[in-house]
Amino acid sequence: MKSLRTIALKEAQNRISPEVKSPSAKISDFFGANVFDKRKMRDFLSKDVYEKLISSINQGELINTDDANQIATAMKAWAMSAGATHYTHWFQPLTGTTAEKHDSFFEPSGDGAIEKFAGSALVQQEPDASSFPNGGIRNTFEARGYTAWDPSSPAFIMESKAGKTLCIPTVFVSYTGEALDYKAPLLKALAALDKAAVDVCQYFDKSITKVNASLGIEQEYFLVDESLFNARPDLLLTGRALFGHMSAKGQQLEDHYFGSIPERVFSYMVDFENEALKLGIPLKTRHNEVAPSQFECAPIYEEINLAIDHNQLLMDLMEKVARRHHFRVLLHEKPYAGINGSGKHNNWSLITDTGKNLLAPGKTPKNNLMFLAFFVNTIKAVSEHADLLRASIASVSNDHRLGANEAPPAIISIFLGSQLNDVLDEIEHSRISKKIKEDNALWLGIPKIPQILLDNTDRNRTSPFAFTGNKFELRAVGSSANSSAPMTILNAIMAEQLVKFKTEVDKLIKKGDKKDIALLTVIKKYIKESKSIRFEGNGYSQEWEDEAATRGLSNIKTTPKALDAYLTEKSADLFNSTGIYSKREIHARHEIMLENFYKKLQIEARVMGEVANTAIIPAAIAYQNSLIANVKGLKEIGVDSKVSLDIVKKLTEHLEIVKTNIDAMLEERKLTNKIEDTREKAIAYDEKVKTYFEVIRYHADKLEQIVDDSVWPLPKFRELLFMK
Ligand code: ADP
Ligand code: MG
Repeated sequence: MKSLRTIALKEAQNRISPEVKSPSAKISDFFGANVFDKRKMRDFLSKDVYEKLISSINQGELINTDDANQIATAMKAWAMSAGATHYTHWFQPLTGTTAEKHDSFFEPSGDGAIEKFAGSALVQQEPDASSFPNGGIRNTFEARGYTAWDPSSPAFIMESKAGKTLCIPTVFVSYTGEALDYKAPLLKALAALDKAAVDVCQYFDKSITKVNASLGIEQEYFLVDESLFNARPDLLLTGRALFGHMSAKGQQLEDHYFGSIPERVFSYMVDFENEALKLGIPLKTRHNEVAPSQFECAPIYEEINLAIDHNQLLMDLMEKVARRHHFRVLLHEKPYAGINGSGKHNNWSLITDTGKNLLAPGKTPKNNLMFLAFFVNTIKAVSEHADLLRASIASVSNDHRLGANEAPPAIISIFLGSQLNDVLDEIEHSRISKKIKEDNALWLGIPKIPQILLDNTDRNRTSPFAFTGNKFELRAVGSSANSSAPMTILNAIMAEQLVKFKTEVDKLIKKGDKKDIALLTVIKKYIKESKSIRFEGNGYSQEWEDEAATRGLSNIKTTPKALDAYLTEKSADLFNSTGIYSKREIHARHEIMLENFYKKLQIEARVMGEVANTAIIPAAIAYQNSLIANVKGLKEIGVDSKVSLDIVKKLTEHLEIVKTNIDAMLEERKLTNKIEDTREKAIAYDEKVKTYFEVIRYHADKLEQIVDDSVWPLPKFRELLFMK
């Protein structure tokens, strides 16, 4: 019988890309075609209701039942005119993916059937949600959750060959009001940030009435041929290769990065980009990444809630469209040991309703003081809550990536670039004397900040949180993550920090300081207090790990321990003051994250055992048997050769080690599964079960290097990485 690998290799060699037809040569012709955007709202709604909906989008005002009915009818009319038959509330439960439950517009009526979509069905739904992770929030007697419409993210139509569905972005909460998703806490953090930031803006510009965070999400991913993927149970079930010796050629020649895009991949990219563009996702950039078969795409930044919805939708689309091209997309942070992992850089800044980017240095000293206020408060916020930010990017898969092969370490530090570092040093060492306090004009004051920062070009890519000219870039986020988790934290800590800043500045003003002097005094104080988190050097180096330790910065390498930061008193104060999580909610979330962590390790451990026992060991034994026959045969004809015998010995050694460790790991799992406390269980999985992975893999990979290639059952790294 032919092995699955043999069949897969044959199929992978004979791929023909499906034809990809762009709807039009001009993207602007079809961009947003499947979105109920403002233009369509205007076409389908009365002027009065349109205006109410816009103000609800912009200011969060509530929509009454009558208006909701009109909006629902308009949405239905638009969706049906585009061919949709069903609608769904689209939400982001804590599983990490998106969820949908489709209902048709169709309803039987007395004399036939009609298509209906009431305002109540738009505004709220009750999916049977008892099987979503809830961390113990919902007892069975109140096993209800409901989804509620988020008007700030527009409805859209998901197309598939079989039909079209109107999707309505929603939050997902329990019957008792606790958030069960990623979106609800994010919206709360954004509301807190808006208020705090507007208050601080008032020092500088009274016309600002709203501040929103903007986000541009770069998405890295790997592609692999579908048949090869299916012939690897580890990729199929865990998204990463648990076995596999690195290919002789990997990324050492650096010949893939920004290289010409292979035809088959290009065709896939164009296809999913078209789908994304129709859904209003403003994709702009595509290129090869560093590792072979690794790629990246990035949209133009958007308002943060929308940017995150779009990224979730994009990941979903990328997976769906990949199948049309007989590819599988790997969004895992570390699909292949030994080469680069994938991240999701979160480019973040704050933008006012007057169109000003608060993190862009201005032309005048006054604008620069405003910039410095937001800039320094960001640094201060991150330095105060570095552990929480670290926790917010923690996951079982990101543990493999952080600190390994070209990814930032688990130490949170901030890179500013030499010019801004100098500016902060200058302020820190400047004296705000009594004389200056009496007469502002004496102080030449705020250092000159060039509008175009030279450091944009020599950006430090080793930093987990880097200032890149007019935005901060959080690079520690993993490729498969929902960005809401870190962005909820980043915006919440910024909100809390700005409130504290204002309190301190107001106190000084009350004491008689002039406004600018008060602002600068507090800024100066924060620069001093947050100094230890600033680092301009090579974040990948051992020296940095050592130095960070002497600076007292945390370096928590594994998820179950990193997650402790969610439960500290400092975090509780933050959650309470910003209103993003109640005690019950955060404990539930903590529990869910730990469960997710150990369950994934549990699955990986099982897959390892199964693949070793049923594929790797049998292949090695089969080869061993053929060698034994050879040894016997040589002896019979009187040839004295040790080649086969030596290989048999080596094979046997590695086989022994693989088998013993698989068995030992199984025993360890049995013990670990008995642990009741979730945190302890997660730690045990990490420190006792996962430790077997390395030794098992090492020796299995040695077997791969020895066994006859024609009988090896699993597609090899060279095939996974280079066949496309
Ligand atoms: P690089 O790979 O060099 O970091 P990219 O061009 O791939 O840069 O991605 C940069 C991302 O940052 C894009 O999504 C871009 O839209 C986004 N971006 C640019 N300016 C801002 C801003 N002010 N706020 C948020 N995101 C921004
Ligand atoms: Mg980037």
